[in-house]
Amino acid sequence: IDIKDLTTEQAKKEIQTLQDRLTDYGIAYYEKDAPLVEDHVYDEQYARLQALEQAFPQFISQDSPTQNVGGAQTKSGLPKVQHPVPMLSLGDVFSLEELQEWEDRTKKALGFQPKYNLELKIDGLAINLKYEQGKLVQASTRGNGLVGEDVTANVMTIKDVPKTLPEAVTVEVRGEIYMPKASFAKLNEEREAEGQEPFANPRNAAAGSLRQLDARETKKRNLSAFIYYTAEPDQLGVTTQAGLLDRFRELGLPTNPDNRVIDKMSEVGPYLEEYTAKREGLPYGIDGVVVKVNNFDDEIDLGNTVKVPRWAIAYKFPPEEAETVVRDIEWTV
Ligand code: NAD
Repeated sequence: IDIKDLTTEQAKKEIQTLQDRLTDYGIAYYEKDAPLVEDHVYDEQYARLQALEQAFPQFISQDSPTQNVGGAQTKSGLPKVQHPVPMLSLGDVFSLEELQEWEDRTKKALGFQPKYNLELKIDGLAINLKYEQGKLVQASTRGNGLVGEDVTANVMTIKDVPKTLPEAVTVEVRGEIYMPKASFAKLNEEREAEGQEPFANPRNAAAGSLRQLDARETKKRNLSAFIYYTAEPDQLGVTTQAGLLDRFRELGLPTNPDNRVIDKMSEVGPYLEEYTAKREGLPYGIDGVVVKVNNFDDEIDLGNTVKVPRWAIAYKFPPEEAETVVRDIEWTV
């Protein structure tokens, strides 16, 4: 039913149902690494809940999935870690029109046209790495954004993550732990041969593999990483997102090579087209493109909501299965 045709009572009921259902989906996805539904099903219901809550804000509850960063933090038996700077999620858009609306809001808030850094949205799970005097001393998951899980021993087994940096910097950096497609295929083959349930996708496989109580198990899973964020750019002497990625490269931190700076949003098209085409051939999964304001001063001005930064947005690709179906229809008609 169209939201404007709902009675308050109907809206309340639907909001409650969606909040409960999405919470259950979130537990299966984040705690058990075993989703009950496909992501696009979750995303559609989430978008409906967001729209309903916007129209009927009196029914937004503190524990609504729209108000919380989803993530596991209590069930796995791993020690907890507090994040002094919260680890956030990302807002998402599913069309160029929605992206344009985000850019209009951004320009209005800043009062000028910012530059953007475009990055691939890596389909893995967020990680926080703490370096002291150039030594990796702690690794933690996002959890609920405020409290994550200590996965230091597990991350120590990941080849791509440097244990020592070439400079004695003290800094916390963040990025994505992911499972390359080849490792994912191999892992699922082995699991099926052993009569275990295969993982639904590389992201769930990466999360399940990282959140192991036995680090030797993580080591066997061939995880990789891309680092893309720090809340302390001053520690690294940089003022822009693209500059930060270059600085990470200098420090030997694994970064994705495919970022690009654009002067205005109308230049986003070729990048989206290029990586929609390249997506299938990449050795790791991506589920979209992240647009970030490039200048950290602009980032600070825009700030964050309780759940997402206002200075970045994820443009999500349509689900791969759906693309295949569309192509099949075009072929046969
Ligand atoms: P998200 O994964 O959509 O986006 C936020 C995350 O993107 C960040 O935390 C970060 O880890 C990651 N990221 C990857 N590349 C990045 C880059 N270059 N820069 C910055 N961040 C980058 O958000 P989320 O809150 O973690 O999860 C929501 C997603 O999980 C939705 O896609 C939803 O479909 C899915 N989900 C599915 C189910 C289900 O039942 N299928 C349940 C819950 C959530």
